[in-house]
Amino acid sequence: MNDKPSATDIDAAIAVGAKVKLATLDTRRDDLLPDRKKAEKQLAEDAAVINTLQDRLFAERTRALLVVLQGIDTSGKDGTVRAVFNETGPLGVVVTPFGRPTEEELAHDYLWRVHRAVPRKGFIGIFNRSHYEDVLVAKVRNLAPADAIERRYGEIVAFEQHLVNNGVTVLKFMLHISRDEQKKRLQDRLDDPAKRWKWNASDLEDRKLWDDYQAAYEKMLRKTSSAHAPWRVVPADRKWRRNAIIASVVRATLEAMNPQYPPVSWKPEEFVIE
Ligand code: AMP
Ligand code: MG
Repeated sequence: MNDKPSATDIDAAIAVGAKVKLATLDTRRDDLLPDRKKAEKQLAEDAAVINTLQDRLFAERTRALLVVLQGIDTSGKDGTVRAVFNETGPLGVVVTPFGRPTEEELAHDYLWRVHRAVPRKGFIGIFNRSHYEDVLVAKVRNLAPADAIERRYGEIVAFEQHLVNNGVTVLKFMLHISRDEQKKRLQDRLDDPAKRWKWNASDLEDRKLWDDYQAAYEKMLRKTSSAHAPWRVVPADRKWRRNAIIASVVRATLEAMNPQYPPVSWKPEEFVIE
């Protein structure tokens, strides 16, 4: 790949199909955006354009964008939000983290809390984890009956179709890191006093289940990458490359949505401000 790939090239490089094998997908992709300086410059440009288009989307108020971020512990979900939307003011952007369901959430179907968090028209919604946990951690840790989990893939595809039909563009990114990279990042959380707050001993339990999680992710990609809401698997061992890739896709998506400032029914010159 050349060192300044187009947004279309980048998107094609991270698209996955129904036969995707996660173990064969490189978590670095040094060939894609090889030059860090150029990638960082591109990220800055993309973030600025995302801000402009977000303003129009907000003004237009007829459609929404939902960005789903999935990935195992330390894969960089928080860092992505910070980097890609760092130019975008808080107005019109809502980030929703999905943790272990509360008692009230558990008393409803698993999509209840998710549907409530879908961005309203004009907004960009970002899911930090998502309904996909209900076929990931729920599967690996047997939190629901196997047949119920099996049904969820189809339910999720239908749910996302419903959102798309109703004016929500759905972008799904899986942040893909290697086992070695996770080890480094977890160690960092022990070593760096500014990162210790992120330490969670239960992450080690999940790390022991690495292979089970990889298998659950692969099945999720295969079963829920649809034409209306495809998955993109982002090589995430290098944070700067991960950020540049995601910003490129978000920007291209907003450009394709092409939101417009709404026309007004009056003439500005009719008003005089004394
Ligand atoms: P974090 O993203 O590090 O704040 O951790 C959130 C935790 O909540 C993760 O360990 C997830 O696996 C867990 N979690 C998120 N959604 C669900 C769910 N639907 N069922 C069970 N656990 C969940
Ligand atoms: Mg965890």
